[in-house]
Amino acid sequence: MNLTSRILLGMGGGVLLGVLFKVAAFDPSHWAVDFVLNGVMSVGGTLFIASLKVMVVPLVFVSLLCGASSLSDGTSLGRLGGKTLALYLLTTAIAISMALALALIIAPGERASDVAPMSFDAAPAPDLTQVIVDLVPTNPVAAMAEGNMLQIIVFAIILGIAIARSGEPGARVKSFFEDLNGVLMKLITMLIQLAPYGVFCLMTTLFSEIGWQDILKLGAYFLTVVLGLALHLGLVYPTLLSTLARLSPIRFFTKMREPMLVAFSTASSGATLPVTLRTVEHRIGVNNEVASFVIPLGATVNMDGTAIMQGVATVFIAQFYNVDLVMTDYLMIVLTATMASIGTAAVPGVGLVMLAMVLTQVGLPVEGIMLIIGVDRLLDMMRTAVNVTGDATVAAIIARSEGRFDDRVFLDPEAGQVVQKG
Ligand code: ASP
Repeated sequence: MNLTSRILLGMGGGVLLGVLFKVAAFDPSHWAVDFVLNGVMSVGGTLFIASLKVMVVPLVFVSLLCGASSLSDGTSLGRLGGKTLALYLLTTAIAISMALALALIIAPGERASDVAPMSFDAAPAPDLTQVIVDLVPTNPVAAMAEGNMLQIIVFAIILGIAIARSGEPGARVKSFFEDLNGVLMKLITMLIQLAPYGVFCLMTTLFSEIGWQDILKLGAYFLTVVLGLALHLGLVYPTLLSTLARLSPIRFFTKMREPMLVAFSTASSGATLPVTLRTVEHRIGVNNEVASFVIPLGATVNMDGTAIMQGVATVFIAQFYNVDLVMTDYLMIVLTATMASIGTAAVPGVGLVMLAMVLTQVGLPVEGIMLIIGVDRLLDMMRTAVNVTGDATVAAIIARSEGRFDDRVFLDPEAGQVVQKG
């Protein structure tokens, strides 16, 4: 059985066991809850997420350093950066506009009368000047220790450029990092084999906790977000892939199944990053120079799925509180939600926190977030899978336009497959 099938099996088994726990509604002190849910499943899920996260910082740093030192001249790096940011902004703007249109047509806020608010503490919106100043690390080790992705990206790029310009010593340093990159890729291949078990544990815990009642009450909102995500995944990305990169979307999605499943189970594009990077390079055929730059940047700043949720949620809250939004408000929402999805950290649930920024901008009550918090976990999982797919789509388009796409890898169904040992 290949890895994808095993992950799917783990997922199905986890959903089943989780639902059984939910139906059984054990007393919290019951041994099954204590030993299975709070014991084995919780430890297994946490270990799996940790095994992914442990690779993120070294991988992003080393892989990007190798990429930047090969793209030595400043012009190709500048061009690559410009194109990547433009595409990220474009796909996010499309996502949010579509979400707004869907929410206006379906009007989920007018169909949710008996929803009880839950408590929510709104975080203050980040200050834009501080965001810019924070791009450059004052201490690269601190940046790595804190896992500050944008700072790591900036440091790896400048160091990579310096390596490229350092002649003989630079070549020696580069060859060391290239070897290290190969070793790290091997590590991912080893750890990803744990995915079926990790996914099983995560799904069991999640499905034993899901509040289906809340989802039913907020059915219209939930389905509007799901529809938006499905359209973006099923229409926008395939159109971009076939027109701009001349790639078969079906083949692309088949190869993307592993990162999409891991993103769904962990609800964190940050934790999924090692799997995404490996897939994009070794299964899809994007050159390391492009992938190592576009994917970590995308995991941090490009969140189309999150933008879709924020668009629908804003209209939902406006309708719920009977606030009429005008054209300028919608433009403001597109702008701030695009910015907010850039500012959203790639961890579970942060999209909701950043929604506070969008709501404040258009003068809507931030307490509105309390209405939708109960159904957010499942939506978070789905939107994270879209976020990750968006990054890979842009990476493929950029690689194609730069002549750094390997069609042989893309066309080979076996390329980069994880084979089970033993
Ligand atoms: N969980 C999302 C991610 O990591 C972010 C969010 O929308 O909350 O991509």
